[in-house]
Amino acid sequence: MCKHVLNAQVAIRSPCCRKWFDCAECHQEKEDHQLLQSFDMTFACKKCKKCFRKDAREFEESDEYCPHCDNHFVIDAITPKPSLQVEGEDVRVDSRMLKDERTRGEDQRTIFNLKDAADRLG
Ligand SMILES: [Zn+2]
Ligand SMILES: [Zn+2]
Ligand SMILES: [Zn+2]
Repeated sequence: MCKHVLNAQVAIRSPCCRKWFDCAECHQEKEDHQLLQSFDMTFACKKCKKCFRKDAREFEESDEYCPHCDNHFVIDAITPKPSLQVEGEDVRVDSRMLKDERTRGEDQRTIFNLKDAADRLG
């Protein structure tokens, strides 16, 4: 079950590894590669369990519905509320995560520093 989009109506088959995912975040968590962006998307309706294909370049309003059971699958995603407080505490306790956070922070800071430098020079 997808924990990112609670009301997912379809599963999407990733063009890169040909596996089924409820959302791009699920792919990111389970695979170690980037999700390949493709115009030719394969969906599986969660309501009628049938597969269908759509071309993202020719996506129209009628394409928001499952061709088999008319289930409206392009909907506003209901996402779980973030529990930032708990995550913050975990970071402090788990030193491994702290290291990861720091590495990520440095990467971001490098970008910001470059931007700052450009601002100062300009
Ligand atoms: Zn993949
Ligand atoms: Zn997900
Ligand atoms: Zn359907």
